[in-house]
Amino acid sequence: MMVLIFAETQKGKFKKAAYELAYYGYQTAQALGTECAALVLGTAEGAEELGKYGASKVYHVTDTALDTFDSQAYTKVIAAAAEKAGANVVIVGHTSTGKSLLGRLAVRMNAGSVPAVNAIPTVEGGTFKVRKPVFSGKAFADYEVKSENKVLSLMGNSLQPQEVGEPASVEALDVEVPAAQVTVKEVKRMEGRTPLPEAELVVSAGRGMKGPENWGIIEELAETMGATTACSRPVADADWRPHHEHVGQTGVAIRPNLYFAIGISGAIQHLAGVNSSKTIVVINKDPEAPFFKAADYGVVGDLFDVVPRLNEAMKKF
Ligand code: FAD
Repeated sequence: MMVLIFAETQKGKFKKAAYELAYYGYQTAQALGTECAALVLGTAEGAEELGKYGASKVYHVTDTALDTFDSQAYTKVIAAAAEKAGANVVIVGHTSTGKSLLGRLAVRMNAGSVPAVNAIPTVEGGTFKVRKPVFSGKAFADYEVKSENKVLSLMGNSLQPQEVGEPASVEALDVEVPAAQVTVKEVKRMEGRTPLPEAELVVSAGRGMKGPENWGIIEELAETMGATTACSRPVADADWRPHHEHVGQTGVAIRPNLYFAIGISGAIQHLAGVNSSKTIVVINKDPEAPFFKAADYGVVGDLFDVVPRLNEAMKKF
């Protein structure tokens, strides 16, 4: 028995999520009394660093067919790698890549699967149990996985990765790589600020902004702070802002050090994705806005007055 995490890369580099996954895999392995290994597809800088976060070994499979993501090919390679490594628990990130792998891996490995977990599994009376949030984080559900093979996806920003070991040895794994079924013609990458799942500072705004033409003050504040911008779902649905900025239950889950919520009411579906932020600052003209209950600091006022003044004050630091 062994735990295998699939460490995603971007442009040959690991994202913060890969270290979190390694640490989660390590904690899971500890609960099962076994070890955690990591699997990297394609070449990646600093793969041995995953060892510091708990992967005792890093396997890599390199083949040009794996240069672009193809969920069918990746599924076959991950399942084959798990078998070769003797792993019966496979953990992927709950990212768009991980979500498209989870179901396929479960079928291929004849495994029970639990998506979007955020707690370390336990073994009670020989039964593997894992907890995940339900009802927008208002409750938890405990799952028992009784199949021999198990596949989990870890909700991003569920735990803070800690260094627990030394750099790991990196070993090439010889598994068959199927020909890609998909041809990727073009990849357009987002340039600029830190991606939301990894951002430490986030300035987010909602329908209180009245329209997309008013976002200049949010952009300016974010620029001054070096923060990433985010928004509530109706704002993205109305095309005021791009969909990748939408945070919450159906959007990106974040865990920044500082989250500014400006003109956002604080519906539970929004809070589900942001309430792990270390410090929450709410600016809303309605003193009864539900977001104030989740806030560390609150400003009751008109955002069109407060935000420019806040920006001027921030520039002095
Ligand atoms: P509103 O609710 O309209 O709130 C606007 C706020 O701005 C109000 O509090 C108002 O007092 C304030 N305001 C207005 N003018 C000013 C001003 N001049 N100065 C200061 N404050 C002002 N929502 C998400 O965000 N993320 C999700 O992932 C998500 N998933 C959902 C999933 C489901 C299944 C469902 C049913 C809903 C989901 N929603 C989600 C929608 C959610 O329920 C709320 O409708 C949404 O979050 C509200 O967005 P808002 O706060 O921007 O708008």
